[in-house]
Amino acid sequence: MEYESVKSDDGRTLLFSVGEFYEKIVLQNHCFICGAPPHSKEFNNEHILPDWLLAKYQLHSQIINLPNQLGQLYGKYTIPCCKDCNSELGDKVEIPMSRLLKLPFNEFTGALANSYETFGLLFQWLNLIFFKTHLKDMHFDWTMDKRQESAKIGASYTWEAMHHIHCIARSKYTHAFIAPEVMGSIFILPAIRHGSIPQFYFHDNTAAQTILIHLDEIVIIGVLNDSCAVLSTLSNTLGRITGPLTPFQMCELFAIATHCNLSLKNRPVFYSEISGKDGYQIKADLPTLEFDQDKAGTTVGELLYFQVKEMITKTPDTERILAEIKDNKRTYLFNRNGEFADHRSDLR
Ligand SMILES: [Zn+2]
Repeated sequence: MEYESVKSDDGRTLLFSVGEFYEKIVLQNHCFICGAPPHSKEFNNEHILPDWLLAKYQLHSQIINLPNQLGQLYGKYTIPCCKDCNSELGDKVEIPMSRLLKLPFNEFTGALANSYETFGLLFQWLNLIFFKTHLKDMHFDWTMDKRQESAKIGASYTWEAMHHIHCIARSKYTHAFIAPEVMGSIFILPAIRHGSIPQFYFHDNTAAQTILIHLDEIVIIGVLNDSCAVLSTLSNTLGRITGPLTPFQMCELFAIATHCNLSLKNRPVFYSEISGKDGYQIKADLPTLEFDQDKAGTTVGELLYFQVKEMITKTPDTERILAEIKDNKRTYLFNRNGEFADHRSDLR
C-alpha cells in the first residue's frame, strides 16, 4: 500500500511515505527516529547494540562480522540519531529492556507472559535492533578496494519491506498502537551456562527478517513479519525442547524458524491507519496459513551451514561435518529417537 507522509498537529512525522523514508532515513543520514536533517540540531548517534549491552558483555572493543567479510568495532557501530530521540529511546526502550533482560530466566518469561505491554516492548526492541543493523549497512561498501566502484552493502536490501520494521521501531516516538495481529513470533528458551560458551551471541537473516539474540541464560528468536505463523507451525518442535540449548542448538532452531518463515506461501499485509478518533494504529491483514517449500529458495541445512561455519572448531573432520550440515544430514536439537539432546551433563 502506498502512503503519503503524515504529520501530527505538533509537527512530528507520524508516518513516512516509503519514498520519503528511503530518501531521508536510508540515503541522507537524517535522524532515523524523527527525520531531522543532519546539522539541523544536535546529533549524538545511536549504538546499534545498546551501550548497556556492550558494557555488560565487554563488546566495545570486539569485532562484529559484516556481510562483506570485514570487521567493524561494536563500540563504533552507530547510526545517525538526534540527541532528543536518543535520550527518549534510552528512557522508553533501553532502560526498561536492560532491567527486563537482567532478570533470571523464569522471571523474564513470567514478565512477558503477564503483560502485553512488556511483550510489545520486547517486540519493538527486536525491530529496533534489526532496523539499525540494516540501516548501518548503507554505510559499508562490499569491497574496500578503493580502485573499484563499490556498491553499499545495504543497496541490495528491499527497503520497502524494511519500512514496516521502521514503523514498529519508532512506535514509541509516534505513539502508534501495535495491533496484536502485527506481533511476530518470539521464542524464548533457556541457554546452557558454561565457562566454555560465550555468553553473548547475535545473528540475523535479512530476507526472512529473523533475529537471534543470546544473553547469558536467555535465548530470544524473533520472526518480525509473520504475525505468529511460525510460532503456531513450530509449536510441536518447541514443545519437544525440554532443556537449555547449546550454541549449535540455538542456531539450528533459528535456521528452522527462518526457513519456516521463508516458506510461507502468502504473507501478512501490514498497514497504518491514522484517524482523529483512534490515533495511529499499525494493523495487519492475515492470509490463510499455507506453505510452499520451493518458495524458501534454501534449506534448513544451508541456513545452518552459513551460520555455524565460522563457529566450528577446525579439526580434520571439519569439512565433512560442514558438508553434512549443509546436506541436512545433521541435527543438534534431537537424537535419533526424536528426543531433545540435553547436553547439560557433558558440560559439568
Ligand atoms: Zn530525532
